[in-house]
Amino acid sequence: PGKKVLIVYAHQEPKSFNGSLLKIAVEELTKQGCSVTVSDLYAMQFEPRATRNDIVGHLHNSEAFNYGVETWEAYKRGGLSKDLVEEQKKVQEADLLIFQFPLFWFSMPAILKGWMDRVLVQGFAYDLSKVYDGGLLQDKLSLFSFTTGGSKEKYAIRGDIRYLLWPMQHGIMHFCGVQVLEPHICYAPENVSEEKRKEMLTAWTQRLKTLWKEEPIDCSPEWYFK
Ligand code: FAD
Ligand code: ZN
Repeated sequence: PGKKVLIVYAHQEPKSFNGSLLKIAVEELTKQGCSVTVSDLYAMQFEPRATRNDIVGHLHNSEAFNYGVETWEAYKRGGLSKDLVEEQKKVQEADLLIFQFPLFWFSMPAILKGWMDRVLVQGFAYDLSKVYDGGLLQDKLSLFSFTTGGSKEKYAIRGDIRYLLWPMQHGIMHFCGVQVLEPHICYAPENVSEEKRKEMLTAWTQRLKTLWKEEPIDCSPEWYFK
């Protein structure tokens, strides 16, 4: 109760399975007394491209554009574009970040990757030697909740799905100091029975009920590649 949750949601269709997972999370967490904010990226028409439009006013070096340097400098002088400032404020206030999305090419949809690229600016999310356990977004939790096209059995044969989570959970969240909860994976919602779909949705509700008692994973190479 009283916890703040930001759900960053990347699906175009509210009636989708991802849309149902989002709805469940909003309802259940709100019921628990959490304050829930949703960044519905497609509905917001969130800009995924990292360009010089993200910097308001003068550039630090207008001769040769360097996105990382320019956003870092702009962050320091309060010169990032409004949409980025708004997302950073939501992140700053949140105790838990939930990312809800369908798996696209063993990764996240471009619009969500764009959110990561643009929002987690140097100076805000990490700094020179302030990375991993020293990252600037400490005391926050993250949870990757996603759906797949492939079945659980296929993933078991073709290589552990944890390999895919290394860039997202470790390379992004842990890098910024955010602790990582177990991912929540709903396999192949398009190809299972209606009954199985209902079961998966119930399992998400159940998990959320005891979420605050969970310990973060040990986000080290062993968890991914043991
Ligand atoms: P939906 O099709 O929206 O939902 C599935 C079914 O659930 C629908 O029939 C829907 O009506 C139903 N449903 C919704 N809500 C409820 C409810 N409350 N109760 C009961 N039923 C409900 N997959 C991989 O495994 N690996 C990849 O690398 C990969 N890459 C992809 C790349 C691209 C560009 C694309 C487009 C897809 C890719 N996929 C991949 C597949 C993708 O991950 C799946 O299509 C997606 O995860 C399915 O989720 P969804 O929410 O879109 O499903
Ligand atoms: Zn890690």
